Amino acid sequence: MNKPAMPNSFRTGPDEQGMFGIFGGRFVAETLMPLILDLEEQWNKAKNDPEFKAELQNLSTHYAGRPSKLYFAEGLTKHLGGAKVYFKREDLNHTGSHKINNCLGQILLAKRMGKKRIIAETGAGQHGVASATVAARFGYPCVVYMGATDVARQSPNVFRMKLLGAEVRPVTAGHGTLKDAMNEALRDWVTNVEDTYYLIGTAAGPHPYPELVRDFQAVIGTEARAQILEQEGRLPDVIIAAVGGGSNAIGLFHPFLDDKDVRIIGIEAGGRGLDGVEHCASMNAGKPGVLHGNRTYLLQNADGQILDGHSISAGLDYPGVGPEHSWLRDSGRVQYEPILDDEALEAFQLTTRVEGIIPALESAHAIAHAMKIVPKMDKDQIVIVNLSGRGDKDVHTVANMLGMEI
Ligand SMILES: *Cc1c(COP(=O)(O)O)cnc(C)c1O
Repeated sequence: MNKPAMPNSFRTGPDEQGMFGIFGGRFVAETLMPLILDLEEQWNKAKNDPEFKAELQNLSTHYAGRPSKLYFAEGLTKHLGGAKVYFKREDLNHTGSHKINNCLGQILLAKRMGKKRIIAETGAGQHGVASATVAARFGYPCVVYMGATDVARQSPNVFRMKLLGAEVRPVTAGHGTLKDAMNEALRDWVTNVEDTYYLIGTAAGPHPYPELVRDFQAVIGTEARAQILEQEGRLPDVIIAAVGGGSNAIGLFHPFLDDKDVRIIGIEAGGRGLDGVEHCASMNAGKPGVLHGNRTYLLQNADGQILDGHSISAGLDYPGVGPEHSWLRDSGRVQYEPILDDEALEAFQLTTRVEGIIPALESAHAIAHAMKIVPKMDKDQIVIVNLSGRGDKDVHTVANMLGMEI
């Protein structure tokens, strides 16, 4: 094993080239380079500007509903009979998940940069809806690229985006899913460099996106850390989050990375098992490669072709993962575990019954892992699970899986 050297801090990355160890970077067309450098420069200015911070804070509070609560899940804790389980309630945010945190930050950046048009990619449509939402709020035209296959199977979100005034452009290339939509969005960006802002939906893509999305989502971990200190007088023993591209997870994890006694666990979609190709566990079953402008763990076949993957949960259905996670994996600071479709489905039903909270299927993956480890822990130990979103969007999928019609 060639493990990278242990850094003094896990919170200092990326370096100036956008690298987290051997991961990350900016592998983009020449024509995009000036834009990406401009974005980086503007972001570096914005993040230290009190006016920018105040505007984001104001919107986070009054529009998105932050801070989100840290809730003691007493019903689930009793049921599992081990450590105390807390939920970080990102499901309570406007638009129903953590995605609004990133979209509010980036729309303010677009405004600051004087851009006139927003583009975004989306898979299940959750990021498309959040992007269309902030575009509506700020009066920008918005184009959302969405794989044609996804357009067909996510019609309620397509309609929401249209209601919000966005144009949804179906992408027929490849298998017509998220990977293809992101390629198309990058292509649009190259063509419309002058006036367009590309609002990426997760902590992936070329530098500086993984860093800036992380910084906008780190509000999750910053709040959770202060809230648990206030409510329990100490840090948690374990924190858990589901990893699609990795934005809600890195948002929770980052403020805890240098707390050596906090065990950090990221959950990948194990789908129907890691033996075949019907999963999205890029870090447990993939190999490093380059996709969407950065080097990271990817699902690939023997020829290095990117696979589509599968998950019961559309939000975890991305063949790659943000580069910072790849680095945290190899350095051993964060442990990444797969959860199967069936296990997530069980966690979804249990949480609904004992907590009266319908979790997103993505979040149910994180809860499913808590269900495995919490019963073996002591009653005075503490586990925080990131409840990245609400599950209203998933009731059709769940009914289907349970063989019911609604
Ligand atoms: C999109 C989404 C995810 C996965 O995206 P990340 O960037 O990995 O956070 C997880 N949970 C919910 C509720 C989502 O909508």
